[in-house]
This record gives sequence, structure tokens and C-alpha cells, in this order.
Amino acid sequence: ELLLDVNNLHANVEGKEILKGINLQVRPGEVHAIMGPNGSGKSTLSMVLAGAPGYTVTDGSATFHGTDLLALSPEDRSHEGLFLSFQYPVEIPGVSMVNFMRAAVNEKRKYLRQEPLSASDFLKLMRQKRAVVELDNKLASRSVNEGFSGGEKKRNEIFQMAVLEPSLSILDETDSGLDIDALRIVAGGVNKLKTQDNATIVITHYQRLLDYIKPDFVHVLYKGRIVMTGGPELALELEEKGYDWIKEMSSNE
Ligand code: ADP
Ligand code: MG
Ligand code: MG
Repeated sequence: ELLLDVNNLHANVEGKEILKGINLQVRPGEVHAIMGPNGSGKSTLSMVLAGAPGYTVTDGSATFHGTDLLALSPEDRSHEGLFLSFQYPVEIPGVSMVNFMRAAVNEKRKYLRQEPLSASDFLKLMRQKRAVVELDNKLASRSVNEGFSGGEKKRNEIFQMAVLEPSLSILDETDSGLDIDALRIVAGGVNKLKTQDNATIVITHYQRLLDYIKPDFVHVLYKGRIVMTGGPELALELEEKGYDWIKEMSSNE
């Protein structure tokens, strides 16, 4: 069955059509990469799926676990198991990572009609998940993302993903600003968290991250449409040839 089913999705930003009919089907256990030139609409697609304000869907549909995703509030999309790693993570001064995560976990549990975690069970969960991304305990007690380096922010996001156990994670340009060690840890975390029941969409301009996170499918997004889909070899081809041939091909249609 389909985890995510996007059909003919059109969306506007500030009155301008950015997504022009996206079709994307994701099944449990799959890793999809979305690549494409800057300004193609990759981030817009992830923002629309997450329900970010300022993005207006004008046509098409998106279902998640068979539920109409677009009808849910951003919070409920997250509670239903959608996780979005932002290209530019926000800082939340004065709120420690631990308290932020405790609130997030317990809000999700409340939505799922589960009891809140006890303090000791929560700390156990934090310890367990910290190990997945090799996140320092000191980082976990600091304010959310405040003064974190680019690599620390990304590691922190994968940590949040580990704790929330989403069924679908969308990682937007997780490789931008990462040194090779941080890249390995982030990719390693994603790979460790992979199961037969969850799926990941990796949005990336470069092929580099895909050396570490092996996609089952690679899609090329250009001018608001998925213009090509292939296997991992497509990412290598794009690395070698760039995006110009895609642009030419699309303009000849
Ligand atoms: P990508 O992630 O592929 O680089 P984006 O989704 O960020 O592309 O942007 C696609 C297009 O939408 C660009 O032309 C960009 O200028 C425009 N756009 C995206 N977000 C906004 C916004 N908040 N306000 C105005 N224009 C936007
Ligand atoms: Mg961009
Ligand atoms: Mg982007």
C-alpha cells in the first residue's frame, strides 16, 4: 500500500504558481531522492506537504496513510508520522532540547491517545536515540539550535527524527553546510532508522549525500514538475552531466 500518494499537486506561493502538477508515490521501506536545479520547487514541495503557512494548494491531492494530508493542521501531520527536516532550522532560545523533545513526544502520544512518558522512560528514550546520531549530552541540554554549528543543527534534527519515529521523513538539503564527518553521521542515522515500515524523501541538489543514503528512486524536479524518474544511477548521471541537459530536454517538449 502507499504511504504517500501525491497526485497532480499544484501550489502557489504569493500568488505565483510554483508546483505545476506533482505526482509522487512512496511505499513503506522506500528511499526517494528528489534532485533538481535551484529554484525548481523542491523546498516548496516539502513545505506544502508539511502544511507551512503561505503555501496555497490550488489543485490536486496528497494522501498519507490513506488520510487526506492537506486537510490536517501542520501539527497533526507531524502527529500522524510526517517529519520535515528544514533547510534552515530555527533557533528557540530559552527552551532546552530535552524540554522541547519531551513536549513533542508527549503531544504526539496525546494525539495517539497514549499516556505521557514517565520522566525516567523519557530519559531512557533520549539516551537510546542520542546514541543513534552520536549526539553529545551537552548539546541535548542546550537551547534548541542556539549557537549550534550547521553540523550540530543537522545532527540535532536527525536526533529529533529518531525520537519521534516518523513513518515518513522529508530531509531538505540536509547536506548543505555539512562537513564530511557530519554528513556521515547524519546519513548513518538515517540508515540506522530505516525500517520496512517507514520511508524517507531526501531532497538534495548534489549527489554527495546519495553516496551515503542509497535511494531506491531518484526524481528530477524542474520548474515545478517531476520531469524524470530513475534509479540511483540517475543521480550519478546528474553529477557528471549537470542539469543543463534536463533543462534543454524540458524546453523541447
Ligand atoms: P528549490 O528548493 O528547488 O531551490 P524553492 O522551492 O525554494 O526551490 O523555490 C521555488 C521557487 O519559488 C523560486 O522561484 C522561489 O523564488 C519561489 N519561492 C519559494 N518560496 C518563496 C516565498 N516564501 N516567497 C516568494 N517566493 C518563493
Ligand atoms: Mg534552493
Ligand atoms: Mg530548496
